[in-house]
Amino acid sequence: MADTSPLWFDPSLCLIGGAWRPAAGGTTISLTNPSDGSEICQIARGGAADIDAAVGAAQSAQDGAWGAMSATERGRILSRLAQVIADNVATLAALEVMDVGKPLTQARADAVALARYCEFYGGAADKVMGETIPYMNGYTVYTLREPLGVTGHIVPWNYPMQIIGRSVGAALAMGNSCVLKPAEEACLTALAFAHLAEEAGLPAGALNVVPGLGAEAGAALSGHAGVQHLSFTGSVATGALVQAAAARNVVPVTLELGGKSPQIVFADADLDAALPFLVNAGIQNAGQTCSAASRILVERPIYEQVKARMGDAYAELTVGPAAEDLRLGPLISARQKEIVTGFLAMGTDLTIAGQGQIVPHAPASGAYVRPTLFADVPPDHPLAQQEIFGPVQVLIPFDAEDDAIRIANGTDYGLVAAVWTRDGARQFRLARRLKAGQVFLNTYGAGGGVELPFGGVGKSGHGREKGFEALYGFSQLKTVAAQHG
Ligand code: NAD
Repeated sequence: MADTSPLWFDPSLCLIGGAWRPAAGGTTISLTNPSDGSEICQIARGGAADIDAAVGAAQSAQDGAWGAMSATERGRILSRLAQVIADNVATLAALEVMDVGKPLTQARADAVALARYCEFYGGAADKVMGETIPYMNGYTVYTLREPLGVTGHIVPWNYPMQIIGRSVGAALAMGNSCVLKPAEEACLTALAFAHLAEEAGLPAGALNVVPGLGAEAGAALSGHAGVQHLSFTGSVATGALVQAAAARNVVPVTLELGGKSPQIVFADADLDAALPFLVNAGIQNAGQTCSAASRILVERPIYEQVKARMGDAYAELTVGPAAEDLRLGPLISARQKEIVTGFLAMGTDLTIAGQGQIVPHAPASGAYVRPTLFADVPPDHPLAQQEIFGPVQVLIPFDAEDDAIRIANGTDYGLVAAVWTRDGARQFRLARRLKAGQVFLNTYGAGGGVELPFGGVGKSGHGREKGFEALYGFSQLKTVAAQHG
């Protein structure tokens, strides 16, 4: 490890029941800096024994101090954690630059979002209420919202901090005890988060972190009989495995999988307003975003204009080492570069409308790819159907509103859709007809507000995270009825 490393904790340990310890098997995994392919450090290779110990520790916390704590006290701890995170934004961002290859600006935004999730859920913890049901003579009926118990959180590498914030933050606010399995490619901020949570006073066992491989620690967590809910973000294939494992224990799952999200640009759109969103929502985080706007559907009268202007914007995109804070950093790994390069090769018969540049001094050992905009792509082309998870967008012309809806809804996914038009009635018509968990009108992402429920339909998954809705997902409803004559 280089002396300049921003690591301020031992990254080779798991947190189980308030104790930092090596994986039971004593083995580790090498963590790589995607900007240059160098080794950052070794992390624990947790396995079934560690998951079992973590689930046991989480259950003990449920049966002990954490389970007995009032919602207000839980909220105060999360609010303190929000402050501790806010005080450490620079430190967390430095870890993410190194570990995920995120440009510094994005890494800082993720750390700020993590603090904001803890702030939001800290404030919300004691505002989750049941109802009284007044309709039955002779009975008083009310509902209680109770924690589920031990919740499992399997997190990917693309936005570790944001995904931990929305999933672990909400689960803790509801009083659950969490077992977190970060991605093997990027888990430093998950470990840092756990250290900061200890500093904020989170009781032992309320949060346990077991790094490890998906097929080992991840599979052990999804199949563990002591887990009462699983929250998974990642690929469709792995999500299906997690759901199948959970089904054997009759455990609910929240799946946040990928997308092939469209932005639909009508001829009457305010193009100056739309253009930055059209490009940025495709290339942010080097396209490794579940809600990446990978399809741009454009009404034919303005198609050539949009193609030219997006092409010009692509020519301005620079890609290089994350610490240089260019528009794009590297992809997460050499493996991801191979996947994205494979997709680019599928487009050899297509027109390229624009491409960014990799800075000449970018190390050859880094996972860099050129952002690429393909034009005139048939809606059923693999590049217009499959999630690429790289900085690749396709432009698709359309002729009329029905055509746009048919193309937009014509994939297996349904995460996000955006509509750019000045026609108010059309905005609301499309908001109803688009197959997506989120529809944005004349914007994209709405600033990523933590208050907005978020999730998918179709192969994009099910269940909702973020906002108040997540608190319902991480709780169970109990109905109490008393007879009083
Ligand atoms: P993945 O779905 O395999 O990994 C995500 C998480 O699941 C990681 O923590 C991993 O360790 C864990 N995991 C893997 N196998 C598991 C198993 N059998 N049981 C339980 N947990 C398991 O994703 P990946 O291999 O890192 O990336 C492959 C593709 O997935 C990407 O190219 C991209 O298309 C997609 N992806 C989507 C998102 C998203 O936010 N929707 C995030 C990451 C990757």
